[in-house]
Amino acid sequence: MATPSRYSGISAAPQPFNQVCPGEPLIRLENIVKTFKTPAGEFQALKGVTACFYRGEFVSVVGKSGSGKSTLANMITGIDHPTSGIVRVEDTLIHTLDESSMSIWRGRNLGIVFQFFQLLPMLSLLENVVLPMDFCNMYHPDQREERAMGLLQMVGLEEFSDKLPTEISGGQQQSTAVARALANDPPIIIADEPTGNLDSRTAESVFGIFTTLVQQGKTIIMVTHDASLARRTGRTLLLSDGELINERVAHTFPDLSLKDMLWLTHQLKPQQFTGGQLLPIPGEGHTGAFLVSDGEVLLRPVQKQPISSASSGQVLDQRRLLPGDWLSYLNLADSRAADMELRVPDGSLLEVLSIELPLLQHWLSESETRRQTLQAKGAINAAP
Ligand code: ADP
Ligand code: MG
Repeated sequence: MATPSRYSGISAAPQPFNQVCPGEPLIRLENIVKTFKTPAGEFQALKGVTACFYRGEFVSVVGKSGSGKSTLANMITGIDHPTSGIVRVEDTLIHTLDESSMSIWRGRNLGIVFQFFQLLPMLSLLENVVLPMDFCNMYHPDQREERAMGLLQMVGLEEFSDKLPTEISGGQQQSTAVARALANDPPIIIADEPTGNLDSRTAESVFGIFTTLVQQGKTIIMVTHDASLARRTGRTLLLSDGELINERVAHTFPDLSLKDMLWLTHQLKPQQFTGGQLLPIPGEGHTGAFLVSDGEVLLRPVQKQPISSASSGQVLDQRRLLPGDWLSYLNLADSRAADMELRVPDGSLLEVLSIELPLLQHWLSESETRRQTLQAKGAINAAP
């Protein structure tokens, strides 16, 4: 067998979809661009977003006002169409459907919850919940009211079923909207700021209903401004100016500014390695740092000099770097780097996101905060 070369990572940019989204996602957004025509000219609200959502996930989408959250949600619901890119839900290519097939497909497969409820004001709560079943001709007409009543009961509103939306509170209207979203028992719920217009107590109760639905197997995508609610979902996507911040970057460096996170997102390039291969040591050669995104790699001294762990201060013979671990040249003194090797364990695969040394050094020279943040997050610290 050939000796593995020291710098044989295979660079693959731009990242293909199946690398960003392994397995079988329920919802796939591939390279979505959305351009709006405005009097001031064209405006790109989404600049090539690739994302996926898996069955049974509860995912939050966060970002400043105007970052493109609603535009993104509207791509999945088909309320709006991408300028380019692909939206696929299971086997349906949403962006290719015409309006009438779209509204039937949507009515059966998606429950949509909006910030301002959007109940029909002249219909009772019960009638509002029956409406989607009538529209999509789901369930026998004789069973629809009973089903709607069951859903109102689930959200705690059965006593109010014959009231008009104006006769109940905002929180109750939103609970009704959730019941309506569930009318046709869709597998997916898309909610755009569902708690944005509610006080914290009613927000909590709507969030509680979502949590229960996820436990029952629904897939929920919730756009929100509320960071504390977002933290309680399974996964958070962070949008900044129409672009998604790399999830690992957002997770590893939550204290960086959005602009810095986005810069790292752009500069980190995926590289794959196979069992037995050696990775370049950050600072030695062209690589400045890497973030493990999949698999594992062992950092170990080639001479008998132990490594100290940054987190525990422990002295180790070797350190196993796992997904989410970050290693930069700042964590490895020059004199020590030469004594270490980074090797992928036999029989396994590794993917890292790595950044070039000169690029990283220049960027860090511009800001002491960046330097400190990136150094502090090092999985090990073998610098003097
Ligand atoms: P968010 O939901 O994150 O607050 P949006 O997705 O609503 O943001 O909007 C993203 C950007 O796109 C904003 O700058 C907004 O002004 C712009 N935008 C959204 N819809 C339209 C439209 N129909 N025409 C022109 N610009 C739009
Ligand atoms: Mg919005």
